Amino acid sequence: SLTIGIVGLPNVGKSTLFNALTKNDVLAANYPFATIEPNVGVVGVPDPRLDELAAIFSSQRRLPATVDFVDIAGIVRGASEGEGLGNKFLANIRESDAICQVIRAFKDENVVHVDGKVSPKDDIETINTELILADLQTVEKVLPRLQKESRLQKDRVAVVAAVEAAKALLEEGRTLFSAGITAASEQGKLLHELHLLTTKPFLYVFNVDEDELVDEDFKNDQRALVAPAEAIFLNAKIESELIELDDDEALELLQSMGQEEPGLATLARVGFAILGLQTYLTAGPKEARAWTIKKGATAPEAAGVIHTDFQKGFIKAEIVSYEDLLTCGSIPEARAKGKARMEGKDYVMQDGDVVEFRFNV
Ligand code: GDP
Repeated sequence: SLTIGIVGLPNVGKSTLFNALTKNDVLAANYPFATIEPNVGVVGVPDPRLDELAAIFSSQRRLPATVDFVDIAGIVRGASEGEGLGNKFLANIRESDAICQVIRAFKDENVVHVDGKVSPKDDIETINTELILADLQTVEKVLPRLQKESRLQKDRVAVVAAVEAAKALLEEGRTLFSAGITAASEQGKLLHELHLLTTKPFLYVFNVDEDELVDEDFKNDQRALVAPAEAIFLNAKIESELIELDDDEALELLQSMGQEEPGLATLARVGFAILGLQTYLTAGPKEARAWTIKKGATAPEAAGVIHTDFQKGFIKAEIVSYEDLLTCGSIPEARAKGKARMEGKDYVMQDGDVVEFRFNV
């Protein structure tokens, strides 16, 4: 499955956040025999639709989609120079599908800042510089070979152009993601073979003081720093306290801070989205469940997420949109009202499709 690597300077609250994430681990709750890597947190994506489905189908349990967060320790200045820890750090980022930077904004004289002062802008620059330098090295290393190839192979000309454009951006100190060059973009596809770091989707978590959670001017300033990447604001210490509370107490604490949901919930939702994922839903007496698919997945591909046999023997899918199901109150009623559709193997799944697959075994 796709993973989000959590990075950040020392003492910004990464461990505090990661511990809160792992305590939220849905694998541990639902699959007691699953092996869980110590540096991976499998977090449920909050989905109120599952509550409604569980009520309609009298489902015994609800299984949300999940996002995997990986704790990547050890950013050090000079990581891109390829010394021991730095190498491992970059290798771990290379294996992640998205990069989540934790940035310290909270003020606390008891917690030392590695650079002596709290400055989100400087911290972001420090981390991004290492990633950009690592990409520049990759680009400079392959460019002569690519240029040579392109003299004989015309299809390599576009690759060289994309790499040269990427090099210019990196030399300006920009991440490729910030310039709109993502894995899914045309340029990104041409760069794919280089396995660059800064084409991955970026996400920034600002670990803030409680008063900053509701300070819109402050938040807008930080958003501007990281745009077009998403910014999430939370207080890691409070998050770790929230998960110890029962739902009512947690809600009360959140409301007292002017928050609608825990920061971890926002993080899971946004993380899921930047990975280019979406869900479809199934429900029955056993469980109401959200299944993870790539955006643009077809009905047979979606069936394959449940079981490869479902994909191989796929005949059709009966689909009711979540909204229609809610209005009709049941599948038979949705059928009677003409809201249930039979879709074939070319159907592209839509977010919130409630599905029952028909297949040969
Ligand atoms: P890491 O080095 O990035 O993993 O940072 P830690 O999670 O170990 O946190 C470093 C120190 O900062 C610890 O003493 C935490 O208790 C403290 N800390 C973490 N988050 C917050 C926060 O939101 N507010 C305050 N005041 N302290 C925090």
